[in-house]
Amino acid sequence: MANILVTGGAGYIGSHTCVELLNAGHDVVVLDNLSNSSVESLNRVQELTHKSLTFVEGDIRDGKTLDQLFGLYQIDAVIHFAGLKAVGESQQIPLTYFDHNIAGSISLVQAMQRAEVFKLVFSSSATVYDEANSSPLNESMPTGMPSNNYGYTKLIVEQLLEKTSQADVRWSIALLRYFNPVGAHKSGRIGEDPQGIPNNLMPYVTQVAVGRRDKLSIYGNDYDTVDGTGVRDYIHVVDLANAHLCALNNRLEQHGCRAWNIGTGNGSSVLEVKDAFEKVNAVAVAFEFAPRREGDVATSFADNARAVAELGWKPQYQLEDMLADSWNWQKQNPIGYKS
Ligand code: NAD
Ligand code: UDP
Repeated sequence: MANILVTGGAGYIGSHTCVELLNAGHDVVVLDNLSNSSVESLNRVQELTHKSLTFVEGDIRDGKTLDQLFGLYQIDAVIHFAGLKAVGESQQIPLTYFDHNIAGSISLVQAMQRAEVFKLVFSSSATVYDEANSSPLNESMPTGMPSNNYGYTKLIVEQLLEKTSQADVRWSIALLRYFNPVGAHKSGRIGEDPQGIPNNLMPYVTQVAVGRRDKLSIYGNDYDTVDGTGVRDYIHVVDLANAHLCALNNRLEQHGCRAWNIGTGNGSSVLEVKDAFEKVNAVAVAFEFAPRREGDVATSFADNARAVAELGWKPQYQLEDMLADSWNWQKQNPIGYKS
C-alpha cells in the first residue's frame, strides 16, 4: 500500500479515483485549489469509503505549498489531474491555460524532483492524436497539433514529461490518454458537476433531462458516420479511475515514460447516446440539430489493446451503465453538489 498525492482530487475524475484508491487500501492526500470543485465531493468520498483522506487546499503552481506537502507526508507517487479543461475558454484565455496546465505541471514535477518522488500518472487526452489518423487510434500513431489551446497544453506536458524521463532514469511516468469519461459512482453521491453551461455532451444531456436546459444542440448531422452525428468512445468514470490504479501499479515496478489509451474501443454517435439515454432512463431529451462545432472531428475511438495487455486493465461497464449512472447522479443532485 502506498501514499498517493492526488492533484485535482476534488474534481470529477479525481474524486472517483480517490474512492478506488481508498478502497484498495492506499493513503490519499488531495491537493486542489477548488477552482472547479467543492470539498463536498471529498466529504462524500470519505462517506462512501468509510475512510479518511487528507485534504490540502492549494495550487500546483505554488512551489512552497508543494514542498511543505512533500515534507509532511511520505508520498510514494502522484496522480496529476489538476488543471483547466474547458476547450472554448482555452481559446479566449490561452495564457491562463498555459499557466495552470503547463507551468503548473512543471512546478509539480520540479517539487517531485526536490522531494525525490519519481512516480507520476498524468491525465492526458485523446485530443493529442493527429487528426489525420483514423480510428481506432493506437499509441504508435503520430500526435499532431491539437485544434485548441487546451489540447495543446496536454501535448506539451506529455512531451515535457517524456524528455524529463529521458534525462533521468529514476522517473517512471504514465500518460493516460482518456477518451470520453462519463457516468458516475453507482451510489449517485459523486458525479460530474460542471460550472455554468456544460461543454460536454453527457452533462448537457442530463441537464436537459432534469429540466435545467431547454434542449440539446447536436453539433452536426452531416458527418461521414452511421447517422451523420459525431462518434466518440465513452468510458465509465469508474473504469477510468481503475485505470489509474493499474497504471500506478505498473509504474511502481517500471521506469521510463509510456502512453496508454483509456477507452472502451467502441464508438457511439451523439444520436445513439441520446436515444439510449432516453430508453435506459425512460426520460425525454429534447434536441435540435445545430451546425458543426469548430475543432470537432467526425469519429474518435480507441484501440485499447496496449492498456489491456500491459496494465491488466479492462473496462467493465457498457454504455447503458454509463447513461443510467449519469442520470442517477443528476436526478439525486439536480444542481450538483449545491443540492
Ligand atoms: P475537473 O475540473 O472536475 O477536475 C480538475 C480539478 O483540478 C478541479 O477540482 C480543480 O479545482 C482543480 N484545479 C484546477 N487548477 C488547479 C491548480 N492550478 N491547482 C490545484 N488544483 C487545480 O476535471 P476532470 O474532468 O476531473 O479532469 C481531470 C483531468 O483529466 C484534467 O487534467 C483534464 O484536463 C483531464 N481530462 C479530462 C477529460 C474529461 O472529459 N473530463 C478528458 C481528458 C482529459
Ligand atoms: N456534442 C453535441 N452537443 C453538445 C456537446 C457535444 O452534439 O452540447 C457532441 C460533439 O460534437 C461530439 C460529442 O458530442 O461529437 C462529444 O463531445 P464532448 O464535448 O462531450 O467531447 P469531445 O469528444 O469533444 O472531447
